[in-house]
Amino acid sequence: MNWLLARRGRNLVSLISICVLLYAAFFTGGDSALQKKRTTTRLLMGTLISITTWGVPEKIEQQGVAEAFAEIARIEDLMSRHKTDSPVAKLNHGAGSGQPQVVPSELITLLTEAQKIQQLSQGAFNPGLGKLIVLWGFSGDENVVKPPKKAEIASWLQSFQSAGGIELSQTDSTISITNPEYGLDLGGIAKGYAIDRAILKLKKSGVVNALVNAGGDLRGIGSKGDASWRVGVQHPRDREKIVVATEWPASPKADMAMVTSGDYERFFIHNQERFHHIINPNSGYPARSGLLSVSVQADSATAADAWSTAFFVLGEDKSRDLLKKLPSVEVLLVRSDGTHWQSDEFRGKWLGKTTN
Ligand code: FAD
Ligand code: MG
Repeated sequence: MNWLLARRGRNLVSLISICVLLYAAFFTGGDSALQKKRTTTRLLMGTLISITTWGVPEKIEQQGVAEAFAEIARIEDLMSRHKTDSPVAKLNHGAGSGQPQVVPSELITLLTEAQKIQQLSQGAFNPGLGKLIVLWGFSGDENVVKPPKKAEIASWLQSFQSAGGIELSQTDSTISITNPEYGLDLGGIAKGYAIDRAILKLKKSGVVNALVNAGGDLRGIGSKGDASWRVGVQHPRDREKIVVATEWPASPKADMAMVTSGDYERFFIHNQERFHHIINPNSGYPARSGLLSVSVQADSATAADAWSTAFFVLGEDKSRDLLKKLPSVEVLLVRSDGTHWQSDEFRGKWLGKTTN
């Protein structure tokens, strides 16, 4: 089989292993694959990002890929809360002052989309959890070993829910954070947005066949010659196993994003309990919704990214209900017992154990 692997993973060892797997996958395709397929990988947004192209003239490919990576780096500079001089970090620094800060309009546009998904998901998706994420220690490379004290979470939750939040002004291009406990954190949506912008740059440069893979979050356009893009999704509990084999539509006009959120990306085990980085905004604790992972296919990686996080928090029943209102969103859920459910149009074959 010649599947790319949508493997999640963030430490350096796992990042290196992503490289090795992709490399191995690319060079099993015979001589023509060797001549036509090119992959470039960079470390950005705390994860490895690969751009693979197929059958594109070298000069066009080089320019398109360079512009796509420059765009991802630009978005990181704009939206990272890890970079102290980014507009997002500056907004967080002034949280609670209520002072409007002028920001690039692009940030307001993305936040407006985030708020739309927040509202549709009845608050399961919330881009304001930055301070709670720091409290939990899921912020950077900290080696967290135990959860924060219950009282700390309760106190944060009470302040967060009681006073204001964030105000956007499209006309003035300003954002003000009125609640000191609000921390803008676009970790659940901005990687998807960066993928979409990279695809736009590739298309503008004339690259028609490409797959952008940001740590397992993907968008593919076009095809791989006569074949479509095929990607294997990692088993949530066994890194070496592929649990879903997905295939992009077989068309030169194919364009599909697929993003996976799971409890195995950033986590620690304390007293035999798993604590992970996808937080239920109502409880302040890692979401326990009966799911191990959620893969979402959609027209844009931005939407797929935010919805995969939201569905993970919502759990199966609420997600399946909500899906009826989202005609261009398809889902595959892996349940805690290892079984799965997938929506009718989800483009993927389940390879794991199943009972439904
Ligand atoms: P997803 O499920 O897509 O998102 C989970 C993340 O979203 C959480 O980590 C948290 O940040 C946030 N979140 C948690 N619960 C919710 C919720 N209910 N609603 C909405 N959002 C929620 N990592 C580094 O280690 N170093 C870096 O320098 C770094 N820079 C980054 C810069 C940018 C612009 C972005 C977008 C990410 C960066 N990251 C960095 C990665 C980031 O910290 C997360 O690990 C990553 O975005 C999580 O993505 P995911 O696909 O694993 O999970
Ligand atoms: Mg997400």
